[in-house]
Amino acid sequence: MGKSISLDIAALALLFILVVTRVLRKMMHDRSNRIFLLILVTATASTAFDIATILIERAQCEQAAVIYIANMGYLLTHYLTVPLYLLFIISMTDTWHKLRRNPVLQVLMILPLAVVLLAFATNSFTHLIFSVENGYQRGPLIGVMYVTTILYVLIVIGYMIRYRKLFGWANLAAVGAVVPIDVAAMLVQFFVPTALIEMFCGSLGLLIMTMGLQRPEEYVDTFTNLMKHSAYAHDMKRAFENDKHVHIVMLNITNFRTIQTMIGFDSMTEILKMVADTIRRLNRKIHGGADLYYLDNGRFRMVFREKDQDKAQMLADALNRELKIPISSNGLNISLTPFLILARCPEEIKDFKALMSFGLDFHIKNDYTGQVMSAGKLYDENQLDIQNNIDLIIEQALENESFQVYYQPIYSTKQGRITSAEALLRLFDPQRGFISPELLIHAAEKSGAIHRIGEFVFEKVCRFIASESFEKLGLDYIEVNLSVAQIMKADLADKLLTIMDKYHISADKINLEITESATAYEQKAMTENLEALARAGLSFSLDDYGTGYSNIKRVIELPLKIIKLDKSFVDEKNNPKMWIVIKNTVKMLKDMDMEVVVEGVETQEALDEFAGLQCDFIQGYFFSKPIPKKDFVTFIANANREAMG
Ligand code: C2E
Ligand code: MG
Ligand code: MG
Repeated sequence: MGKSISLDIAALALLFILVVTRVLRKMMHDRSNRIFLLILVTATASTAFDIATILIERAQCEQAAVIYIANMGYLLTHYLTVPLYLLFIISMTDTWHKLRRNPVLQVLMILPLAVVLLAFATNSFTHLIFSVENGYQRGPLIGVMYVTTILYVLIVIGYMIRYRKLFGWANLAAVGAVVPIDVAAMLVQFFVPTALIEMFCGSLGLLIMTMGLQRPEEYVDTFTNLMKHSAYAHDMKRAFENDKHVHIVMLNITNFRTIQTMIGFDSMTEILKMVADTIRRLNRKIHGGADLYYLDNGRFRMVFREKDQDKAQMLADALNRELKIPISSNGLNISLTPFLILARCPEEIKDFKALMSFGLDFHIKNDYTGQVMSAGKLYDENQLDIQNNIDLIIEQALENESFQVYYQPIYSTKQGRITSAEALLRLFDPQRGFISPELLIHAAEKSGAIHRIGEFVFEKVCRFIASESFEKLGLDYIEVNLSVAQIMKADLADKLLTIMDKYHISADKINLEITESATAYEQKAMTENLEALARAGLSFSLDDYGTGYSNIKRVIELPLKIIKLDKSFVDEKNNPKMWIVIKNTVKMLKDMDMEVVVEGVETQEALDEFAGLQCDFIQGYFFSKPIPKKDFVTFIANANREAMG
């Protein structure tokens, strides 16, 4: 039966198009894309050689060398596609480091390939694979070729099953579809050598893969040509799951927003492109081999392999030098503040969530020193451990009821005595010591645990107010902090009022603190909560006044009785200009009939100065730190006795 080459030609055309489009679409950003391109090129060559052998046969060409080369080319390239495919799968799962730790699997993968390649290399005189002397003849080892191919296919299938979670379903389907198509085609070809459907089926399989696998638009940022946030998240999640150790150079441009506001979006994009070019150039220069990402808002990431710690350090240092050089844009001289951090994962940052949240705002939470910092140094071991496990710590504390509420006295300058107190959350962990409430609240807001914690604190306070010991203290009210997340939740007012009912608390015994940052939001739920609570008779304080950009219009709209000046005012009171601000702020608030609390007063001097400004209340270490309820009761009882006696 004569062989028809029309299917082969179709396959060749198809593969050629695939190769060209991938090159044009620049799908060569990472190792798996490059290996995939290699597979396509090999398959194209293989198809071309296949066509050549048939044409030679048709032309009844007698030249042994030509026949030999065509067959050799075909068999070799054809054989290589499956091992390459296996490489591709390993690369997609990013499990090279696991392979390196498994010698048995290494031998199993390399040995068959080595044997077959040796047979190919010596075939001209051993004729182990084929011979052409008396027309094309299969050699004794051709069966071994098929057997090893099947072995590789089995390893591929094993890999896909073992690491199915790392693929995602769409990728798994795209990659997996190739296996049954190719195996079926290969079997047909083996038993019916004239069928010639194998190349075509193979090219169809590769077409399915190209269409199904990651599209560059999804993974590559079009401005910087670096991989995107989604690719970073995907790759890092996989690295932690695989226990792959990496060094990450994190670059957050601290003044990104300011510069963008100054020069506009287009010019900022030019600067980002320039930063990306610098990163690429330096990475090439040091042969870093890092995967490069642009996340968003001036945040770049460079991920190095475990053994490349030195290169990571070099790149970070070089970037720190080069990016500080001023750039001129639109006639303005722009200086970037590149905040660079080197993080070892998972040693310094233990899981994916911690990595992402650390990367989000390390440039805001830490002072900029101008040096490349290590993630380990920024947080001491204990802090980092807390940071990494904060969700678990909170859940356990809620379960074991180990949260506590401390009270900090608030002094009334008019009455000359302690008239109220602020309830503050405390968590003592036997291994880790006290855990900062700011960290707790921040994490709890993200995880949603804040609502349960908030209710816990509120209930504790109500129980205290309802108790006999409270009555004797003669306090007017207790201040309870509300977090923004709580105020935004529609059922907050109901929940709090229900708890107050349960303990028969009168509303004037409670003052709720909302932070200045809450004023930035204008949400229906927030307005309704505040109105319902105010209607029930509760009063409100505005906490941390002066720390952010107070929207005065919102401050006026809210039902506030008290304004709490942030501790930073006290800290900077000796600056003459600041003192003018303080004086006038207090005057303005008093003119608005607000009561003013000063937070963070630690000295007699500060007490006198702020009392002199007619501030109504003073809170701070000068009177007492926040203390447990029992100590607080004793403290107030003693203070009252002194005042009487
Ligand atoms: P805040 O509401 O502004 O509380 C005042 C903070 O200043 C407290 O820190 C207090 O210990 C500290 N402080 C008071 N006087 C002085 C002083 O003289 N010198 C210094 N250096 N510090 C002083 P703490 O207890 O660490 O709480 C930090 C923040 O965590 C609070 O700031 C509040 O925003 C939040 N927080 C605490 N407990 C709760 C809670 O139950 N619910 C919510 N939503 N937030 C809470
Ligand atoms: Mg407060
Ligand atoms: Mg405060």
